[in-house]
Amino acid sequence: DLAPATAPLDVVSPPPVPLVDGRRVPYANLDYAASAPAVRAAAEAVAELLPRYTAVHRGAGWLSTECTRAYERARGEVAAFLGCRPDDQVIFTKHTTESVNLLASALPPRTRVVAFDSEHHANLLPWPDLVRLPAPASPRAAVASIGAALAVLGDDAPVLIAVTGASNVTGELFPVADITRLAHRFGARVFLDAAQLAPHRPIDVAALGVDYVAFSGHKLYAPFGCGVLAGRSDWLDAAPPHLAGGGASALVGDATCDVTWRTGPARHEGGSPNVIGAVALGAVCAELGATDWQRLVDEEDALRRRLATGLARIDGVRQLHLFGADSPRVGTVAFIVDGWSAGLVAAVLSAEHGVGVRDGLFCAHPLTRRLVHEAGGDPSTTQAVRASVGLGTTVDDVDRLIAGVARLVGKGPAVPYAVIDGRYAP
Ligand code: PMP
Repeated sequence: DLAPATAPLDVVSPPPVPLVDGRRVPYANLDYAASAPAVRAAAEAVAELLPRYTAVHRGAGWLSTECTRAYERARGEVAAFLGCRPDDQVIFTKHTTESVNLLASALPPRTRVVAFDSEHHANLLPWPDLVRLPAPASPRAAVASIGAALAVLGDDAPVLIAVTGASNVTGELFPVADITRLAHRFGARVFLDAAQLAPHRPIDVAALGVDYVAFSGHKLYAPFGCGVLAGRSDWLDAAPPHLAGGGASALVGDATCDVTWRTGPARHEGGSPNVIGAVALGAVCAELGATDWQRLVDEEDALRRRLATGLARIDGVRQLHLFGADSPRVGTVAFIVDGWSAGLVAAVLSAEHGVGVRDGLFCAHPLTRRLVHEAGGDPSTTQAVRASVGLGTTVDDVDRLIAGVARLVGKGPAVPYAVIDGRYAP
């Protein structure tokens, strides 16, 4: 009863999932912000490459040459998808977290990094000398706050503004172009965390002007294990290699310290790379790059609005916003339910309705704690539920979530339920 994936951007569906009453239903995956399902283009790229899979950059054999070509083609597909400038590097990493750690270790001495409290931990914790700004109350306040920080920091040491394109908690879009224009006036650089933006909006690095960008393949309909850091070469080529070893070194002398490191992406990609992950990611980037983004954005936004409107009609459900309910955002809705812990809401949605959502603080503890508190409601509520849509999400997925939450609320406070050992128990 599942539609086969016939178009390159059709998602590959899992089998029906069991409910607590023994029925099996199609999985309503509303957890795209954590990891998106693979699309057919990614699945086909994996299936095609697996039988031909061999080491890249090292062998003279035919397969090795072909694999090297496929790996480097993928790099080009990612560069085109991101709209990189000719002198930008595209480095394959494991994920956004590794990309940020790589850039953090490539900062010139004395660089100060400026980021809002609202960032995902991956864009807070790796930075060595971080100036943390309070989460802004509006896009305009975000720009003003960065401007004030830049004025105080001055230009006697390098400054990097690290900002997300879209919040992983609320989905709200940050004014990246305005922030970048301002930062450049002060001689500062900008890093864009595009983990949540890339699957939902076209990115044009050259037009935005951002200096660095990172995202994760597993949120962009490709497999786990491959992410990207792209951006300006000078800091990256001057930095110590991220993974010292074979591939990163051009020449090694007889003394251990006698090493000439490569420049370019190879400098940071020591060891045998994740060729299959990169090729699958490149295939998705090529398909998304050629897609009608406006249609995709409109479809997702209709689903997101249906979700938000449906939840808004249920008494005791409070949605989380940083900039306000009307601020533009990707397809993510975070909420709390009066009288119900977020964990229990998520467990019941899964067990009774086959709906997959995320609950907790979403690796953005300062932001989520603040938004849950500001949403009011039961003071014992400390965590939230997050539903997120993407390619392949249906109206039925969204309606099942709304109906599931309405049913919970109709039962009154969560007395007859328990989660035992992490499992739902009616
Ligand atoms: N930044 C943002 C905005 C994210 O949403 C995430 C993932 N939740 C990350 C960074 C980290 O991504 P990954 O776990 O793939 O490294």
